[in-house]
Amino acid sequence: MSRPGHQVQLTPKGERWRRAGHPWVYRDDLASVDPACAGQVVQVLSAQKQPLGQAFCNPKSKIVLRWLTDDPSVQVDRDFWQRRLKAAFDYRKRVVGDSTAYRLIHAEADGFPGLVVDKYDSVLSVQSQSLVMEPLLPLINELLTELLKPAAIIYRNDAAARKLEGLPLEKKVAQGTLPEVVEIKEGTRRYTVRPMEGHKTGAYLDQRENRIWARQFARGRVLDAFAYQGGFSLQVSESAKEVLALEDSVQSVEWLKENLALNKIKNVQVERANAFDRLRELEKEGKPFDLIILDPPAFAKSRGEMEGAWRGYRDINLRAMRLLSPGGTLITCSCSHQVSDEIFGEILREAAADSKRRVRFVEQRTQSADHPVLLTHPESKYLKCIALEIDP
Ligand code: SAH
Repeated sequence: MSRPGHQVQLTPKGERWRRAGHPWVYRDDLASVDPACAGQVVQVLSAQKQPLGQAFCNPKSKIVLRWLTDDPSVQVDRDFWQRRLKAAFDYRKRVVGDSTAYRLIHAEADGFPGLVVDKYDSVLSVQSQSLVMEPLLPLINELLTELLKPAAIIYRNDAAARKLEGLPLEKKVAQGTLPEVVEIKEGTRRYTVRPMEGHKTGAYLDQRENRIWARQFARGRVLDAFAYQGGFSLQVSESAKEVLALEDSVQSVEWLKENLALNKIKNVQVERANAFDRLRELEKEGKPFDLIILDPPAFAKSRGEMEGAWRGYRDINLRAMRLLSPGGTLITCSCSHQVSDEIFGEILREAAADSKRRVRFVEQRTQSADHPVLLTHPESKYLKCIALEIDP
């Protein structure tokens, strides 16, 4: 890759936006853009034609520019990407303690626009969500191989966001031999991942630290209402008397049971159930829980789904608050980008008021540190995980 030839000029509004540090520039904020810049590294100019830095360009996407560097003269070449990869890896060595699975590259926050790389022991799972990253994938594979010597690199390019960039959906082994199942160690527990079939790129790595943190609240009867393959259940079962894990997908229930067997865990009961219905039934049964974990899928994937999402979150949180014993803990999460900290807080306040219980705030957390957030890209801080406590 040589020095960029194309130039793109921002409008005064686009320039203000960019100077505030956001890594994306939208079409309306560009004074002009040459369609031939598609997939190229371009020089970005201010409204007064001063160089501001370099970006990837995709005139067909709503996000036309994805920022690469403020340095107008650095070469965006093999060394450039190698430096960024090394920095990403060194950071994980500092922040990931007790897991053999973690996110190695978290897109914009690591300087790789739209690219995610997750490490599941010796398997690397790559997800690219921007057109401009596609031609670079062979080089990224080469750099990953040099650094980590993985058994396999796979492409989990099945995220719907790819369609917005005009990219096809595909899953494939890009390199090496993929074991059907990979075993991961997380704290004192182990779990299996099927990198091709599992949710996201295989598992919910963003909740890794929260699962370990949840252990301190485990006691007595625990409910894990959206359990997937048991992430939270595995951790909290160590100090709980009994755990009820609910999950509505047949496939996930199977994987969850496999993980219980793998860890020789006997005190987790698994039910294939719709958590909305089951929470209502459990309320009628009147046997309280000492800890309830709510980690549902994103209820609002777009702004249009906000109203339904609000109802959904309020409903499950209200029921959980009613179901807790005095002094009981609620760990409640939302991974919807659309649901801000403020909105989630408002929903929880409504649920608390309706529950007629006194609910205390204990702690708020977000995604694990291997999913860093660029401060000037607030949308990338999507996960909310809050501990609440019922007044004893
Ligand atoms: N806590 C898990 C991740 C949960 S993801 C971990 O740390 O690994 C959310 C899960 O909820 C998915 O497995 C999904 O299949 C399940 N799910 C979605 N809707 C549900 C419903 N109505 N009732 C029960 N489970 C549901």
